[in-house]
Amino acid sequence: MGKLELEKKYEDQVLKCSRCGFCRTICPTFEAKDFLESYGARGRMILLKAVDEGKIQLNQIQSDQSLVDRIFTCTLCGACMETCPSKVDYIATMEAARAGLVKLGLAPPDFDEFGKMTLEKGNVLGQDNARRMKWASKLDNIKVNEPAETLYFVGCNVMRPRVRPMATAAGKVLQDANVDFAVMGEDEWCCGLVFINTGHLDVAKEFAKHNIELIEKINPKRIVTICPGCAQAIQHYEHLVGWNPGDIQIIHAVEYIAELLDQGKFTFTKEFNGGSKVAYHDPCELGRQMGVFDAPRKILNAIPGLEWVELENNKELSHCCGGGSGLQGIDTELAREVANYRLKEVQDAGADVLVTACPTCRSNFLDTIKQNNLAIKVMDIHEILAQALE
Ligand code: SF4
Ligand code: SF4
Repeated sequence: MGKLELEKKYEDQVLKCSRCGFCRTICPTFEAKDFLESYGARGRMILLKAVDEGKIQLNQIQSDQSLVDRIFTCTLCGACMETCPSKVDYIATMEAARAGLVKLGLAPPDFDEFGKMTLEKGNVLGQDNARRMKWASKLDNIKVNEPAETLYFVGCNVMRPRVRPMATAAGKVLQDANVDFAVMGEDEWCCGLVFINTGHLDVAKEFAKHNIELIEKINPKRIVTICPGCAQAIQHYEHLVGWNPGDIQIIHAVEYIAELLDQGKFTFTKEFNGGSKVAYHDPCELGRQMGVFDAPRKILNAIPGLEWVELENNKELSHCCGGGSGLQGIDTELAREVANYRLKEVQDAGADVLVTACPTCRSNFLDTIKQNNLAIKVMDIHEILAQALE
């Protein structure tokens, strides 16, 4: 069995961790696993150091998958990085460790099959890629793979019937604001983020190369996505396959919509009628990782009749939804346990509607609410916008 072979820059990150434990106050998996050290950032760093020094032998791991489990059950939410006084680049180090485990054939086996299936189908759901355009059935004259100022990258999740309304809503908003936009339609492939996050870089590169070809054909000034993960993945293409995006802005739709709002491109005609009090959940990738906090709040403030509150942990210190980095597939129970903590905050805030701007957050919250029979409605911010524009 080979070595993990972390590049020196990641070995340095592991050494940079001073074992202070400040990250223990904020890590959602550590909390959800009853404060078991190895499920927190510090514990994971200690494990990586032990592997690096040969104190844990990788050839022992096949019979005891606990190290692999700890490394792959981090949601990559980045909360630990907010409290870390040593500024450990935790997410990049964890992704590098996962890539090393994948190379050694020690990754969770389901992910290998999942990668093959996604490459074959072009989407993470294993469905016919033609279903990608179902979200557009009620909208006229959508450009597909034609030059446009804006590329609307819709993402795989749109193939789930429950996510489709999000995509339709965002498309309607772009049309109402007379934005010149195109989509990739049936030719759009998975953005690849889940494979970047889980260390399956060869698979991620295939998706990147395919999507870049289409981006260059559309030649947009900006790419907007309704999933923060898709925006992050496309931003990663430069590092992953050496693509130079030039001046192309790669942003989440809320950033662009907030800009259009400032330019007066919308008139809201309808009062919000989705519930009595709304709480906003900052998705980790959109908030902490992309630094987008104001745009969704600006949008919520602009909707007539919408009363909204901040959750106890918000913005940089937002609590993860539990669905990040493929955890829903790797350890569903843990993903829902993490979501439960966030949903408790929603109840404590007296809100009956939880709004987010990420299909993965929405999906993990919906499943957890259903499982625990909670009286909380989950909505995507684009759905709220589309309702207000009707
Ligand atoms: S990224 Fe999030 S889940 Fe992972 S160790 Fe840090 S705080 Fe915990
Ligand atoms: S806060 Fe940073 S330095 Fe301290 S234990 Fe956690 S990862 Fe290590």
